[in-house]
Amino acid sequence: MTSHKMKGLICRECGKEYPAVSLHVCELCFGPLEVQYNYTEIRKHITRRSIEAGPKSLWRYLDLLPIEGEPTAGLYAGLTPLVRAKNLGDELGLDTLYIKNDTVNHPTLSFKDRVVSVAITRALELGYDTVACASTGNLANSVAAHAAAAKMQCYVFIPHDLEAAKVLGNLVYRPNVVEVEGNYDDVNRLCSEIAGEHKWAFVNVNIRPYYAEGSKTLAYEVAEQLGWTAPDHIVIPMASGSLLTKVWKGLNEFHKLGLIDRLTTRINGAQAEGCSPISTAYKQGRDFFKPVKPKTIAKSLAIGNPADGYYALKATTESGGAMESVTDDEIVHGMTLLAQTEGIFAETAGGVTIGVLKRLVKQGVIKRKDVTVALITGNGLKTQDAVIDAVGRPTRIAPSLVQFQKMFNLGKHEGTLHD
Ligand SMILES: *Cc1c(COP(=O)(O)O)cnc(C)c1O
Repeated sequence: MTSHKMKGLICRECGKEYPAVSLHVCELCFGPLEVQYNYTEIRKHITRRSIEAGPKSLWRYLDLLPIEGEPTAGLYAGLTPLVRAKNLGDELGLDTLYIKNDTVNHPTLSFKDRVVSVAITRALELGYDTVACASTGNLANSVAAHAAAAKMQCYVFIPHDLEAAKVLGNLVYRPNVVEVEGNYDDVNRLCSEIAGEHKWAFVNVNIRPYYAEGSKTLAYEVAEQLGWTAPDHIVIPMASGSLLTKVWKGLNEFHKLGLIDRLTTRINGAQAEGCSPISTAYKQGRDFFKPVKPKTIAKSLAIGNPADGYYALKATTESGGAMESVTDDEIVHGMTLLAQTEGIFAETAGGVTIGVLKRLVKQGVIKRKDVTVALITGNGLKTQDAVIDAVGRPTRIAPSLVQFQKMFNLGKHEGTLHD
């Protein structure tokens, strides 16, 4: 059935249809294109059972992903743990809180492994031998890793001021790493020009319609892991706004296909105050955003001119959700709080999500009884500088029992063993 599931591309603004080629803007109105599916066909095959019998990866949702054949890249991405976060829930005043833990996604420890698995598989189907991307860090890591494994040529473009671990997390795979003297929006503009000159698969430029669909798998997994139900609230970090838009699309597809019975989920967007074009527009009641110059420690979310900002505002409004932003201090606090309550070390974007979750509970937007899921999208080992001043130092001692006990004020035989 896979050959009939994808109808092609459609303009999100004027509705003009295109075949499923590498194209991302409408030739008529310059609106963004998205993948269109044949849901009548998909409905005939897809069931909860058929999904449950699928691979233990995001490819269990193959029927709803924009590739024609079988997956050829990123075979192990997705199906990350949905962690019941009792301790953090107690701390924040929520009875039923979950963390969707994409800090352990395969192979590069962020949610970007989802979008890249889909994008590279599609790029190979379309006949490309070179992949590229404009990245705030995690996307480049994932593209570089997948390109190495797929033996493709690779160019990744990043801003010049990224975290050391994210730069190294490119170089180790030996792609062409291009550090641009500018911010992400400069990088993105340059990449649009390059994409016009070279026949490369730019995963988030000409392949963007396919790439973006990979984000839906986060929504699918949350619903399946909650026993085929949708939560009351989801809190989602926003850079370009694509992830948030696609989580809403994914939940609506599941509802339309009868895989979940009810859909009353409120979609909530999270940004850093130092780069909050989308959440600021939402709070001011506008349906358009004003581009900004980013200045925040949450570099993975530092997009001042977000490509899907308008659609993110629309999705949040449609769902009856909210948006908030947090300061750099709140981001650091969110990171250490998540680590110290749940044992999950997330990157700065995770701190943004937890900080915003905390604010929304305090404001009464998210209530104690609401089943709530926070999407934690990247790993803290990649952004260590952000917390280095907030975590203290080890206690240094000579290799001596006496000194150890003195340092920690421990009496003889202190401690209890339960059996
Ligand atoms: C890319 C990214 C996001 C969100 O990206 P969108 O452009 O909004 O889809 C969220 N968290 C992390 C860690 C990311 O790298």
